[in-house]
Amino acid sequence: MQAAKSATPLCDQFAFDIDWRIAQLSLIGLHEFTRDQVRLLHERVLDRETSALIVDRFYSQLDRHGPARELLSSFDVAHLRERQINVLEGFGDWFQDATYFESRARLGVTHARVGLPLSLYVASVGLMQSLILEVVLERLDSREQRRMLTELVVKLSSLDVSLATEVYHRARMDGLDRSLKSLERQREQLRQQLEQDSLTEVSSRTSLLREMAGAMERAAKTGQPLVVTMVDLDNFKVVNDEHGHLIGDRVLKEVAARIKSALRNFDLVGRYGGEEFVVLLENTSLHTARQVAERIRRRIADEPVEVQGVAVNMSLSQGLALYVEGDDVQSLLSHADQAMYRAKAAGRNCVVEG
Ligand code: GH3
Ligand code: MG
Ligand code: MG
Repeated sequence: MQAAKSATPLCDQFAFDIDWRIAQLSLIGLHEFTRDQVRLLHERVLDRETSALIVDRFYSQLDRHGPARELLSSFDVAHLRERQINVLEGFGDWFQDATYFESRARLGVTHARVGLPLSLYVASVGLMQSLILEVVLERLDSREQRRMLTELVVKLSSLDVSLATEVYHRARMDGLDRSLKSLERQREQLRQQLEQDSLTEVSSRTSLLREMAGAMERAAKTGQPLVVTMVDLDNFKVVNDEHGHLIGDRVLKEVAARIKSALRNFDLVGRYGGEEFVVLLENTSLHTARQVAERIRRRIADEPVEVQGVAVNMSLSQGLALYVEGDDVQSLLSHADQAMYRAKAAGRNCVVEG
């Protein structure tokens, strides 16, 4: 069953709940007015004919104001005029109710959406107020009634302005909030792009080198062993030559995934170059690192990589280097690289220690 829709979605959205509405009415002083007083306003001042007259005066006044005229030129003024007459006919009618707040808030939202500046909206409420008051003064003989209706009109206009200001402000805050969220999403995407290699989805070179420097600092401080492995795909050029670069890319991606699957959660693999990866093994002895490298070797060599029905036999050459005091990132990588070249020289598909 579908949930019943609220008749006051804007009041719900902007938390114009009963407490807020009562507080607002009492701040403006509207709570002192009765339904009979509003009825008197409609019988003596805002009947349909007079409302139409006031609306005519309203638009001819706006027409003399450059920015307002320009804004109105893109609207169907006859339609606006008709709606404005209806608005005037409902002015103050059941002002205590949530639906009244809803309809006035909707006016504010509509004006904010079409890009009417708040200053112009507030000025036009002021203009409408003075046009109504003119009629109040013309039509009513009783001083007491004139005073009472003047006060009522001023307070109802204040309510309109306060709701519009609130709604404009919140609509703007919502817009800013949405922009901020979208910027945060973009920033997160950029950060991920920087941190992760887009093809193989392992750490990027930037992130790898940064993590490596961090791991070396920790190793220097704690004395825990740190091993770096340089991993290079064997004869990868042949894969590209035989099957094309696209298949080559898919093979590279699968190899990276297999390397990752052979590691523990806290180990790190990054793409160092084209078909070269570096594995960081913190708190790991050379003995254990050898076992990890062997596990990686078998994950690749024991089963061909299948891409689009093509089975590609792959293998890796790996060079291990243990961090020793005085090493920097470059020297440690260079030791691992030299060991890896020795693995190539030894016939590939093997692990050599530096
Ligand atoms: P070796 O066993 O001596 O390492 O031989 P190799 O063919 O792997 O080494 P070589 O350095 O001659 O060639 C590396 C190849 O890797 C050439 C290059 O086109 C390919 N390669 C590097 N990056 C990528 C990539 O992102 N995608 C694809 N498809 N190929 C790549
Ligand atoms: Mg290479
Ligand atoms: Mg290679």
